[in-house]
Amino acid sequence: MNLQTHILTGILIQIFCFRVFILPFDIVFTILFAFLSHFIIDAFVLITYHTSEPQKGDLFWISWQIISYGSGTILILFFLPYALGMLFANLIDIIDWLILRQIHRIKLKTEKLDWTKNYFFHNFVAKIRKYTLFWLPNWNYNKKGIIPEIIINIILIIGVILLRI
Ligand SMILES: [Zn+2]
Repeated sequence: MNLQTHILTGILIQIFCFRVFILPFDIVFTILFAFLSHFIIDAFVLITYHTSEPQKGDLFWISWQIISYGSGTILILFFLPYALGMLFANLIDIIDWLILRQIHRIKLKTEKLDWTKNYFFHNFVAKIRKYTLFWLPNWNYNKKGIIPEIIINIILIIGVILLRI
Protein backbone atom coordinates (compact mmCIF):
# COMPACT_ATOMS: atom_id res chain seq x y z
CA MET A 1 0.00 0.00 0.00
CA ASN A 2 0.98 3.63 0.01
CA LEU A 3 3.42 5.50 2.23
CA GLN A 4 0.85 7.19 4.49
CA THR A 5 -0.79 3.83 5.36
CA HIS A 6 2.50 2.24 6.46
CA ILE A 7 3.51 5.42 8.31
CA LEU A 8 0.21 5.52 10.24
CA THR A 9 0.54 1.81 11.06
CA GLY A 10 4.08 2.34 12.39
CA ILE A 11 2.96 5.29 14.55
CA LEU A 12 0.01 3.32 15.95
CA ILE A 13 2.19 0.28 16.74
CA GLN A 14 4.86 2.35 18.51
CA ILE A 15 2.29 4.29 20.58
CA PHE A 16 0.64 0.99 21.55
CA CYS A 17 3.90 -0.80 22.42
CA PHE A 18 5.28 2.14 24.44
CA ARG A 19 2.03 2.31 26.42
CA VAL A 20 1.76 -1.42 27.08
CA PHE A 21 5.29 -2.81 27.42
CA ILE A 22 8.22 -1.89 29.66
CA LEU A 23 11.80 -1.36 28.46
CA PRO A 24 13.30 -3.11 26.48
CA PHE A 25 10.16 -4.90 25.29
CA ASP A 26 8.56 -1.65 24.08
CA ILE A 27 11.42 -1.21 21.59
CA VAL A 28 11.69 -4.91 20.67
CA PHE A 29 7.96 -5.31 20.02
CA THR A 30 7.73 -2.00 18.13
CA ILE A 31 10.44 -3.25 15.74
CA LEU A 32 8.90 -6.71 15.42
CA PHE A 33 5.25 -5.70 15.02
CA ALA A 34 6.04 -2.74 12.73
CA PHE A 35 8.16 -4.95 10.46
CA LEU A 36 5.48 -7.68 10.31
CA SER A 37 2.69 -5.14 9.77
CA HIS A 38 3.98 -4.43 6.27
CA PHE A 39 3.33 -8.03 5.19
CA ILE A 40 -0.26 -7.88 6.49
CA ILE A 41 -1.04 -4.39 5.12
CA ASP A 42 0.45 -5.16 1.70
CA ALA A 43 -1.45 -8.46 1.55
CA PHE A 44 -4.61 -6.33 1.17
CA VAL A 45 -3.13 -4.34 -1.73
CA LEU A 46 -5.49 -5.92 -4.29
CA ILE A 47 -8.46 -3.83 -3.09
CA THR A 48 -6.47 -0.58 -3.42
CA TYR A 49 -5.53 1.59 -6.40
CA HIS A 50 -1.91 0.56 -6.82
CA THR A 51 -0.60 0.31 -10.37
CA SER A 52 2.66 -1.59 -10.73
CA GLU A 53 4.11 1.00 -13.11
CA PRO A 54 3.88 4.84 -13.05
CA GLN A 55 0.90 6.30 -14.99
CA LYS A 56 2.71 9.50 -15.85
CA GLY A 57 0.07 11.01 -18.15
CA ASP A 58 -2.82 10.30 -15.76
CA LEU A 59 -3.79 13.27 -13.60
CA PHE A 60 -5.70 11.06 -11.16
CA TRP A 61 -2.63 8.87 -10.59
CA ILE A 62 -0.37 11.93 -10.19
CA SER A 63 -2.80 13.53 -7.69
CA TRP A 64 -3.00 10.33 -5.64
CA GLN A 65 0.82 10.10 -5.53
CA ILE A 66 1.05 13.72 -4.34
CA ILE A 67 -1.62 13.09 -1.65
CA SER A 68 0.08 9.84 -0.54
CA TYR A 69 3.66 11.10 -0.40
CA GLY A 70 2.59 14.56 0.80
CA SER A 71 0.52 13.24 3.70
CA GLY A 72 3.18 10.61 4.43
CA THR A 73 5.88 13.30 4.67
CA ILE A 74 3.69 15.53 6.88
CA LEU A 75 3.01 12.56 9.19
CA ILE A 76 6.76 11.78 9.45
CA LEU A 77 7.48 15.39 10.48
CA PHE A 78 4.59 15.67 12.97
CA PHE A 79 5.22 12.27 14.57
CA LEU A 80 9.04 12.25 14.50
CA PRO A 81 9.33 10.70 18.02
CA TYR A 82 7.70 7.60 16.50
CA ALA A 83 10.46 7.25 13.91
CA LEU A 84 11.29 3.72 15.08
CA GLY A 85 7.80 2.40 14.30
CA MET A 86 7.63 4.37 11.05
CA LEU A 87 11.03 3.11 9.89
CA PHE A 88 10.33 -0.57 10.53
CA ALA A 89 6.79 -0.35 9.11
CA ASN A 90 8.36 0.87 5.85
CA LEU A 91 11.55 -1.21 5.91
CA ILE A 92 10.66 -3.69 3.20
CA ASP A 93 9.58 -0.89 0.86
CA ILE A 94 12.93 0.81 1.52
CA ILE A 95 14.81 -2.44 0.83
CA ASP A 96 12.79 -3.55 -2.23
CA TRP A 97 11.91 -0.25 -3.89
CA LEU A 98 14.86 1.94 -3.00
CA ILE A 99 17.83 -0.38 -2.59
CA LEU A 100 17.21 -3.65 -4.49
CA ARG A 101 15.47 -1.97 -7.42
CA GLN A 102 18.46 0.32 -7.96
CA ILE A 103 20.90 -2.59 -7.75
CA HIS A 104 18.67 -4.56 -10.12
CA ARG A 105 18.64 -1.67 -12.63
CA ILE A 106 22.38 -1.15 -12.52
CA LYS A 107 23.24 -4.87 -12.72
CA LEU A 108 20.69 -5.93 -15.35
CA LYS A 109 20.58 -2.57 -17.15
CA THR A 110 16.84 -2.77 -17.70
CA GLU A 111 13.76 -0.87 -16.54
CA LYS A 112 11.77 -4.10 -16.60
CA LEU A 113 12.04 -5.67 -13.18
CA ASP A 114 11.27 -9.26 -12.40
CA TRP A 115 9.28 -8.99 -9.15
CA THR A 116 8.93 -12.75 -8.95
CA LYS A 117 12.59 -12.99 -7.89
CA ASN A 118 12.85 -14.42 -4.40
CA TYR A 119 15.16 -11.70 -3.07
CA PHE A 120 12.31 -9.19 -3.19
CA PHE A 121 10.38 -9.15 0.09
CA HIS A 122 7.24 -8.26 -1.86
CA ASN A 123 7.44 -11.61 -3.58
CA PHE A 124 6.82 -13.18 -0.17
CA VAL A 125 3.93 -10.73 0.36
CA ALA A 126 2.48 -11.89 -2.99
CA LYS A 127 2.64 -15.48 -1.75
CA ILE A 128 0.76 -14.60 1.47
CA ARG A 129 -1.86 -12.84 -0.68
CA LYS A 130 -2.12 -15.79 -3.07
CA TYR A 131 -2.91 -18.24 -0.27
CA THR A 132 -5.12 -16.03 1.89
CA LEU A 133 -6.65 -12.92 0.32
CA PHE A 134 -6.88 -14.20 -3.28
CA TRP A 135 -10.70 -13.79 -3.08
CA LEU A 136 -10.52 -10.00 -2.87
CA PRO A 137 -11.53 -8.08 -6.00
CA ASN A 138 -8.56 -6.70 -7.94
CA TRP A 139 -8.88 -2.90 -7.96
CA ASN A 140 -5.17 -2.18 -8.57
CA TYR A 141 -6.06 -0.34 -11.79
CA ASN A 142 -9.50 0.80 -10.64
CA LYS A 143 -9.66 4.37 -9.37
CA LYS A 144 -12.31 3.51 -6.75
CA GLY A 145 -9.51 1.52 -5.07
CA ILE A 146 -8.46 4.71 -3.26
CA ILE A 147 -11.65 4.41 -1.13
CA PRO A 148 -10.62 1.24 0.81
CA GLU A 149 -7.19 2.78 1.49
CA ILE A 150 -8.74 6.06 2.68
CA ILE A 151 -11.08 4.06 4.99
CA ILE A 152 -8.06 2.13 6.37
CA ASN A 153 -6.26 5.48 6.88
CA ILE A 154 -9.25 6.92 8.80
CA ILE A 155 -9.41 3.81 11.05
CA LEU A 156 -5.66 4.13 11.76
CA ILE A 157 -6.00 7.87 12.51
CA ILE A 158 -8.86 7.14 14.95
CA GLY A 159 -6.63 4.49 16.56
CA VAL A 160 -3.77 6.98 16.96
CA ILE A 161 -6.13 9.61 18.47
CA LEU A 162 -7.68 7.09 20.89
CA LEU A 163 -4.27 5.81 22.06
CA ARG A 164 -2.88 9.33 22.47
CA ILE A 165 -5.69 10.61 24.77
ZN1 LIG B 1 5.21 -2.64 0.37
